Amino acid sequence: MLQLFIPLNFLGFVYREIRRSLTDLENMLGLLKKEAQIKDKTDAPELQLQQGRIEFNQVHFGYQPGRSILNGLSFVVEPSQKLAIVGASGAGKSTIARLLYRFYDIQNGSICIDGQDIRDVTQSSLRQSIAIVPQDTVLFNTSIRENIRYGKPDASEAEVDQVIQLAHLESFIQSLPQGDQTLVGERGLKVSGGEKQRIAIARVLLKGSPILIFDEATSALDSHSEAAILKALRELAKHHTSVVIAHRLSTVTDADNILVLQQGEVAEAGTHQQLLAQQGLYAQLWAKQQEAKPKTE
Ligand code: ATP
Repeated sequence: MLQLFIPLNFLGFVYREIRRSLTDLENMLGLLKKEAQIKDKTDAPELQLQQGRIEFNQVHFGYQPGRSILNGLSFVVEPSQKLAIVGASGAGKSTIARLLYRFYDIQNGSICIDGQDIRDVTQSSLRQSIAIVPQDTVLFNTSIRENIRYGKPDASEAEVDQVIQLAHLESFIQSLPQGDQTLVGERGLKVSGGEKQRIAIARVLLKGSPILIFDEATSALDSHSEAAILKALRELAKHHTSVVIAHRLSTVTDADNILVLQQGEVAEAGTHQQLLAQQGLYAQLWAKQQEAKPKTE
């Protein structure tokens, strides 16, 4: 009996190993398939950027089959305009940013920049044209100045100085013992969420891309940091087509257009004043956020 049990047991082991290897292989192929989805077309031209007009036309997208995230989303951001996207958590706001950067391809519709479908141009030219201020900026273990320079490694000293000023980082840097040579990152000075964001804004300014996406941090900033960030953002927005994914409505009251996203569709659209007058979802959200503001503000 034992003689039979050992080979059967061994066969079971071999079978399980083969199954596991196949699953690993499938996963790997799955990854490769995903990679292949966002490959450049053969002989794809570079994006010919003119003024930076963005158009989402009937965009349908889901990360997995059977669960759609965007259901026929359409909007236009005219050159140098600021579009704000607001809505509940999970509404699909950050997904829009990911799609514009072409981290994923859409299932239906089109996304165009200056009339060119982003699937028809090289990813490198597309990504060079867009700069993202992410929710959580990564700081490298080097000086603040080098962290800013990361936006354009060959920038001149004068260019770096200029963006430090534009991002309202001057007084913060002056308050540090080693100024802009102060080490930050995991092993250096721990900077606040607001300071991190201003470093990210400086990087983006230095990169000089005509289209800007600002994925606002969810963490509540104090009113002082918020005011400084808003000032820096307004500076940026003057010369860029910008898309701001906003959690705090106070940061987007000056937007040319605000989309209120609900389950992957535009529930309301308009300027801050127009949306307040509609007394709909936006007005409710605004009232709620005003109530939640600390009394000291
Ligand atoms: P928040 O305000 O919380 O940042 P959001 O509106 O930006 O939310 P998205 O990040 O766009 O929401 O996510 C939209 C939906 O897509 C969510 O339900 C989320 O769970 C799902 N989702 C996001 N990323 C992925 C992914 N990589 N794979 C599968 N589903 C995802």
